[in-house]
Amino acid sequence: MPRIAYVNGRYLRHAEAAVHVEDRGYQFADGVYEVCEVARGYIIDMPRHLDRLARSLKELSIGWPVHRNVLELILREVVRRNRVTDGLVYVQVTRGVASRDFTFPEGVRPALVVTARKVPAGSQAKRAETGIKVVTTPDNRWDRVDIKTVGLLPNVLAKQKAKEAGAQEAWFVDGDGMVTEGGSSNAWIVTRDGVLVTRPAEHGILRGVTRTTLLDVVAKLGLKFEERRFTVEEAKSAREAFISSATTIVMPVIAIDGQPIANGHPGSVALSLRRAFFDVAEKTKAC
Ligand code: PLP
Repeated sequence: MPRIAYVNGRYLRHAEAAVHVEDRGYQFADGVYEVCEVARGYIIDMPRHLDRLARSLKELSIGWPVHRNVLELILREVVRRNRVTDGLVYVQVTRGVASRDFTFPEGVRPALVVTARKVPAGSQAKRAETGIKVVTTPDNRWDRVDIKTVGLLPNVLAKQKAKEAGAQEAWFVDGDGMVTEGGSSNAWIVTRDGVLVTRPAEHGILRGVTRTTLLDVVAKLGLKFEERRFTVEEAKSAREAFISSATTIVMPVIAIDGQPIANGHPGSVALSLRRAFFDVAEKTKAC
């Protein structure tokens, strides 16, 4: 069965799906996106992802390509047509197709692409058993990373640097030596006193949907929690560190810049948050 992609009103074979050469996403990174996890046939936290998409679109004065309810149906249909029970669904909205000019074109309809792909069930859970390594890198991004735009070149370079160092994620560090977030995830630590810490969701980071749901989990489990900035040094001497994102949910970090965190094994708080996540996350039947 071929993979299917949705492109501007049509369901096409993935291999043949294409956008126009003058799509502003392609020329200017003038677009936004969302990635939702699909688990056991449910799209996880879809309302929160669509709320964030609404915010990203508003911040950039891009209109909805279709009504929100219709977009929900398209997401579910793409998941269904690709028979994804465990995997990801990706949605991208750009300002549209127009002759190349920096300023906003008039009368142009935003362009919409939705794709989905399978990820072997349990592969992330297996990865969580061993954990991942991260490397730190200067945060050289613009100051509106709270908008989930497709302009991801600094993230690409940071994650490539991590890969070349034998790590799986890069943590961005601001000019004050404070960790901002990962290349495609939010960063967390558990202090030696057992307090969970993550950076406040201001303009310096993306307000992760998984991060938001984890805050509900933290409250439900009655864990000690502080929303504040933390240094690389504090992270290296923490009891635990982990990342959160829709694709990894909660992934323990076992080393930062080659230095093991605690005993170099996944921490118990991260693993219990991971287990509790799906009880709290909102599940929308995909098909
Ligand atoms: N921060 C960045 C830079 C990201 O790219 C992502 C996800 O792609 C996240 C954080 C985590 O966001 P979410 O939990 O919504 O996947």
